[in-house]
Amino acid sequence: MVFKERPEPLGLVLTHFLNARMKLTEDEQKHYWTIKKGYEGEVRSDTWLKNLTDSWLVLHDLLLEYNQSIFQIDTLIIAYEKVYILDVKNFEGDYAVKDDKWYNPAGVLQKNPLHQLERCETLLNKLLLELGYPYTIESYLIFNNPEFHLYIPTIHSAIIFPTQLNRFLKRLNSKPVPLSKKHYQLAKQLESLHKIESPYPRLPSYTFEELRKGVICHNCKAFLTDGTLICKKCGCIEDAEAAILRSLNEFRLLFPDNKITVDTIYDWCGSIKSKKVIRRVLSKNFVLLDKARASHYVEK
Ligand SMILES: [Zn+2]
Repeated sequence: MVFKERPEPLGLVLTHFLNARMKLTEDEQKHYWTIKKGYEGEVRSDTWLKNLTDSWLVLHDLLLEYNQSIFQIDTLIIAYEKVYILDVKNFEGDYAVKDDKWYNPAGVLQKNPLHQLERCETLLNKLLLELGYPYTIESYLIFNNPEFHLYIPTIHSAIIFPTQLNRFLKRLNSKPVPLSKKHYQLAKQLESLHKIESPYPRLPSYTFEELRKGVICHNCKAFLTDGTLICKKCGCIEDAEAAILRSLNEFRLLFPDNKITVDTIYDWCGSIKSKKVIRRVLSKNFVLLDKARASHYVEK
């Protein structure tokens, strides 16, 4: 069973918003596609793991620390007295390994993913011992894109190719041993140790003034333009309150330090013609802090 789901990374959510409201540079655009593709690949792998029986606890996306070293685990599976680390790669095209060095289809040298996996395993092993779980760890590098090929001189048992995924899963499912309270306790402990990194320092730079204002259609992501909440592109209609709250959520995530005021949200929503509607929605869903000239809304 899945114990910890993989959330869409906040950095990706924020870049979606920015991409709609400003022109990203070529590098920013490239970075956006890389994280988007990476996330999609991970989600694809997660779907495949749903066929695991209940004798496994699956934790997606863990960022852990041991002795001031941070390490990230794509997917961790807790089984009976054993822990699996799966590092999922959505690589596409022909890759090659020569003298223990990895090259992408363009012939550019890459970080060796096996080295990263080994580092993860070493650090997790130390962390588990410290927490009192002397379990064996098995690590696998999973390639889940059917368009991937690796030219490698020797077979490496930690590498699982797309055509081996089903057999790998079958092999796991063939040795089910019921989990005990202790295993759930470990899952809970690891989940509580998961660190959340702020995505803000790595975002493209932006200001409130330079972002395009307006409500974005929740269905087709086009801007609503004519002052109504009917999308000209797809014909979708959204209730004013839902549309304002959705846009407000974008604003709060993009500008966590800015105050929520009627004027700001009116400005941000652009296509909502009445300030009264904005005030009504804010009053209903937030608490007004009335400090004379600096009145603003905060969460209820
Ligand atoms: Zn639309």
